[in-house]
Amino acid sequence: MKNLISILTASVLLLCCTGNTIHFGSSDEIPANTVLLLELNKGVSQQQLSEACNFLKENFPALKIVKGGKVQLPSSCYNGKRYRADSILRYLDQIKPDSVSKVIGITSSDISSTRTLIRKGKKMTYPDYGILGLGRRPGTVCVVSNHRMGGNAATFSKTVLHEFMHTLGVRHCTHEKCIMQDGNGSGKNMRESTHVHEECLAIAMEGLD
Ligand SMILES: [Zn+2]
Ligand SMILES: [Zn+2]
Repeated sequence: MKNLISILTASVLLLCCTGNTIHFGSSDEIPANTVLLLELNKGVSQQQLSEACNFLKENFPALKIVKGGKVQLPSSCYNGKRYRADSILRYLDQIKPDSVSKVIGITSSDISSTRTLIRKGKKMTYPDYGILGLGRRPGTVCVVSNHRMGGNAATFSKTVLHEFMHTLGVRHCTHEKCIMQDGNGSGKNMRESTHVHEECLAIAMEGLD
Protein backbone atom coordinates (compact mmCIF):
# COMPACT_ATOMS: atom_id res chain seq x y z
CA MET A 1 0.00 0.00 0.00
CA LYS A 2 2.84 2.34 0.86
CA ASN A 3 4.22 1.82 -2.66
CA LEU A 4 0.95 2.71 -4.27
CA ILE A 5 0.71 5.87 -2.20
CA SER A 6 4.16 6.95 -3.26
CA ILE A 7 3.39 6.10 -6.90
CA LEU A 8 0.30 8.24 -6.65
CA THR A 9 2.17 11.05 -5.01
CA ALA A 10 4.82 10.82 -7.68
CA SER A 11 2.24 10.92 -10.45
CA VAL A 12 0.56 13.92 -8.85
CA LEU A 13 3.84 15.73 -8.62
CA LEU A 14 4.73 14.75 -12.17
CA LEU A 15 1.48 16.16 -13.44
CA CYS A 16 2.09 19.29 -11.46
CA CYS A 17 5.35 19.82 -13.24
CA THR A 18 3.91 19.24 -16.68
CA GLY A 19 0.44 20.65 -16.04
CA ASN A 20 1.76 24.21 -16.20
CA THR A 21 -0.41 25.94 -13.59
CA ILE A 22 -0.22 23.79 -10.48
CA HIS A 23 2.68 23.99 -8.12
CA PHE A 24 3.00 22.46 -4.71
CA GLY A 25 4.92 24.22 -2.02
CA SER A 26 7.59 22.35 -0.18
CA SER A 27 5.89 22.79 3.20
CA ASP A 28 4.05 19.90 4.85
CA GLU A 29 0.76 21.71 4.62
CA ILE A 30 -1.98 20.17 2.49
CA PRO A 31 -2.43 22.52 -0.45
CA ALA A 32 -5.84 24.15 0.00
CA ASN A 33 -8.64 23.05 -2.30
CA THR A 34 -6.50 20.73 -4.36
CA VAL A 35 -8.59 18.00 -5.91
CA LEU A 36 -7.21 14.83 -7.46
CA LEU A 37 -9.29 13.40 -10.29
CA LEU A 38 -8.34 9.76 -10.28
CA GLU A 39 -9.40 7.40 -13.05
CA LEU A 40 -10.34 3.97 -11.74
CA ASN A 41 -10.06 0.83 -13.88
CA LYS A 42 -10.56 1.93 -17.50
CA GLY A 43 -11.50 5.48 -16.50
CA VAL A 44 -13.59 7.58 -18.90
CA SER A 45 -12.89 9.38 -22.17
CA GLN A 46 -10.50 12.32 -22.04
CA GLN A 47 -13.31 14.53 -23.32
CA GLN A 48 -15.62 13.60 -20.45
CA LEU A 49 -12.79 14.05 -18.01
CA SER A 50 -11.90 17.52 -19.24
CA GLU A 51 -15.54 18.60 -19.42
CA ALA A 52 -16.03 17.51 -15.79
CA CYS A 53 -12.85 19.34 -14.86
CA ASN A 54 -14.05 22.54 -16.56
CA PHE A 55 -17.46 22.29 -14.90
CA LEU A 56 -15.85 21.98 -11.46
CA LYS A 57 -13.67 25.03 -12.21
CA GLU A 58 -16.64 27.07 -13.49
CA ASN A 59 -18.49 26.53 -10.22
CA PHE A 60 -15.46 26.60 -7.92
CA PRO A 61 -12.82 28.83 -9.50
CA ALA A 62 -10.57 28.47 -6.44
CA LEU A 63 -10.06 24.74 -7.00
CA LYS A 64 -6.75 23.38 -8.15
CA ILE A 65 -7.49 20.24 -10.09
CA VAL A 66 -4.89 17.58 -10.69
CA LYS A 67 -5.41 14.55 -12.90
CA GLY A 68 -3.81 11.32 -11.72
CA GLY A 69 -2.94 8.19 -13.67
CA LYS A 70 -5.26 5.21 -13.89
CA VAL A 71 -5.63 3.02 -10.81
CA GLN A 72 -6.93 -0.54 -10.84
CA LEU A 73 -9.54 -1.12 -8.14
CA PRO A 74 -8.73 -4.07 -5.86
CA SER A 75 -10.84 -7.21 -6.27
CA SER A 76 -12.09 -6.67 -2.69
CA CYS A 77 -14.27 -3.85 -4.08
CA TYR A 78 -15.90 -6.21 -6.60
CA ASN A 79 -18.85 -8.45 -5.73
CA GLY A 80 -18.76 -10.46 -8.95
CA LYS A 81 -21.18 -8.12 -10.70
CA ARG A 82 -20.48 -4.53 -9.66
CA TYR A 83 -17.93 -2.51 -7.73
CA ARG A 84 -19.26 -1.56 -4.30
CA ALA A 85 -19.19 2.23 -3.98
CA ASP A 86 -18.65 2.14 -0.21
CA SER A 87 -15.63 -0.15 -0.67
CA ILE A 88 -14.28 2.19 -3.35
CA LEU A 89 -14.56 5.14 -0.94
CA ARG A 90 -12.65 3.21 1.73
CA TYR A 91 -9.97 2.39 -0.86
CA LEU A 92 -9.73 6.02 -1.96
CA ASP A 93 -9.37 7.01 1.71
CA GLN A 94 -6.37 4.68 1.94
CA ILE A 95 -4.59 5.86 -1.20
CA LYS A 96 -5.33 9.59 -0.96
CA PRO A 97 -1.97 11.35 -1.24
CA ASP A 98 -1.28 13.90 1.50
CA SER A 99 -0.59 16.41 -1.25
CA VAL A 100 -4.31 16.78 -2.10
CA SER A 101 -7.37 17.71 -0.05
CA LYS A 102 -9.96 15.62 -1.95
CA VAL A 103 -10.01 12.65 -4.32
CA ILE A 104 -12.72 12.20 -6.94
CA GLY A 105 -12.69 8.65 -8.32
CA ILE A 106 -13.92 8.43 -11.91
CA THR A 107 -14.84 5.18 -13.61
CA SER A 108 -16.82 3.53 -16.38
CA SER A 109 -17.23 0.39 -14.25
CA ASP A 110 -20.69 -0.23 -12.82
CA ILE A 111 -20.89 0.79 -9.15
CA SER A 112 -23.52 -0.07 -6.56
CA SER A 113 -24.64 0.37 -2.99
CA THR A 114 -27.39 -0.90 -0.73
CA ARG A 115 -30.33 1.44 -1.10
CA THR A 116 -33.71 1.75 0.55
CA LEU A 117 -36.23 3.38 -1.76
CA ILE A 118 -39.95 4.01 -1.72
CA ARG A 119 -41.58 2.04 -4.51
CA LYS A 120 -45.37 2.18 -4.96
CA GLY A 121 -45.69 3.52 -1.41
CA LYS A 122 -43.62 0.68 0.09
CA LYS A 123 -40.14 0.80 1.54
CA MET A 124 -37.92 -1.53 -0.45
CA THR A 125 -34.30 -2.39 0.26
CA TYR A 126 -32.09 -3.26 -2.69
CA PRO A 127 -28.81 -4.85 -1.60
CA ASP A 128 -26.93 -4.17 -4.85
CA TYR A 129 -28.44 -1.12 -6.50
CA GLY A 130 -26.55 0.39 -9.45
CA ILE A 131 -25.81 4.09 -8.84
CA LEU A 132 -24.26 7.08 -10.61
CA GLY A 133 -22.08 8.19 -7.73
CA LEU A 134 -21.44 8.30 -4.00
CA GLY A 135 -19.68 10.87 -1.85
CA ARG A 136 -18.96 11.22 1.85
CA ARG A 137 -20.70 14.15 3.51
CA PRO A 138 -18.58 15.83 4.58
CA GLY A 139 -15.43 14.00 3.60
CA THR A 140 -12.43 13.80 1.36
CA VAL A 141 -13.51 11.18 -1.19
CA CYS A 142 -16.26 10.51 -3.70
CA VAL A 143 -16.75 8.31 -6.76
CA VAL A 144 -18.69 8.75 -10.00
CA SER A 145 -19.43 6.15 -12.70
CA ASN A 146 -20.64 6.94 -16.21
CA HIS A 147 -21.80 3.36 -16.68
CA ARG A 148 -25.48 4.27 -16.37
CA MET A 149 -25.35 7.59 -18.24
CA GLY A 150 -25.54 6.42 -21.85
CA GLY A 151 -22.56 8.56 -22.83
CA ASN A 152 -24.23 11.79 -21.64
CA ALA A 153 -21.23 14.00 -20.84
CA ALA A 154 -23.35 16.74 -19.21
CA THR A 155 -24.89 14.24 -16.77
CA PHE A 156 -21.40 12.98 -15.96
CA SER A 157 -20.08 16.50 -15.22
CA LYS A 158 -23.12 17.33 -13.10
CA THR A 159 -22.78 14.09 -11.12
CA VAL A 160 -19.11 14.83 -10.48
CA LEU A 161 -20.09 18.25 -9.14
CA HIS A 162 -22.95 16.72 -7.07
CA GLU A 163 -20.70 14.16 -5.35
CA PHE A 164 -17.93 16.69 -4.86
CA MET A 165 -20.40 19.05 -3.19
CA HIS A 166 -21.41 16.26 -0.80
CA THR A 167 -17.77 16.14 0.29
CA LEU A 168 -18.05 19.86 1.07
CA GLY A 169 -20.99 19.11 3.37
CA VAL A 170 -23.92 19.87 1.06
CA ARG A 171 -27.03 17.73 1.62
CA HIS A 172 -29.64 16.80 -0.95
CA CYS A 173 -31.98 19.65 -1.72
CA THR A 174 -35.50 19.93 -3.10
CA HIS A 175 -35.01 23.13 -5.10
CA GLU A 176 -36.34 22.49 -8.58
CA LYS A 177 -33.64 21.60 -11.12
CA CYS A 178 -30.79 22.03 -8.60
CA ILE A 179 -28.07 19.46 -9.19
CA MET A 180 -28.15 18.58 -5.47
CA GLN A 181 -31.58 16.94 -5.73
CA ASP A 182 -31.77 13.30 -4.68
CA GLY A 183 -32.20 10.98 -7.63
CA ASN A 184 -34.38 8.61 -5.56
CA GLY A 185 -32.86 5.72 -7.43
CA SER A 186 -33.20 7.28 -10.88
CA GLY A 187 -30.90 9.39 -13.03
CA LYS A 188 -33.80 11.59 -14.16
CA ASN A 189 -33.32 14.46 -11.71
CA MET A 190 -29.63 14.59 -12.52
CA ARG A 191 -30.20 14.55 -16.27
CA GLU A 192 -32.80 17.32 -16.01
CA SER A 193 -30.98 19.48 -13.46
CA THR A 194 -29.83 22.82 -14.80
CA HIS A 195 -27.89 24.63 -12.06
CA VAL A 196 -26.60 24.79 -8.52
CA HIS A 197 -28.92 27.08 -6.63
CA GLU A 198 -27.38 29.70 -4.39
CA GLU A 199 -28.14 28.13 -0.98
CA CYS A 200 -26.37 24.91 -1.96
CA LEU A 201 -23.48 26.87 -3.41
CA ALA A 202 -23.15 28.94 -0.20
CA ILE A 203 -22.96 25.77 1.94
CA ALA A 204 -20.36 24.35 -0.42
CA MET A 205 -18.23 27.51 -0.24
CA GLU A 206 -18.15 27.20 3.57
CA GLY A 207 -16.79 23.68 3.11
CA LEU A 208 -13.83 24.84 1.05
CA ASP A 209 -10.47 25.10 2.80
ZN1 LIG B 1 -26.33 12.82 -3.61
ZN1 LIG C 1 -29.91 23.12 -4.12
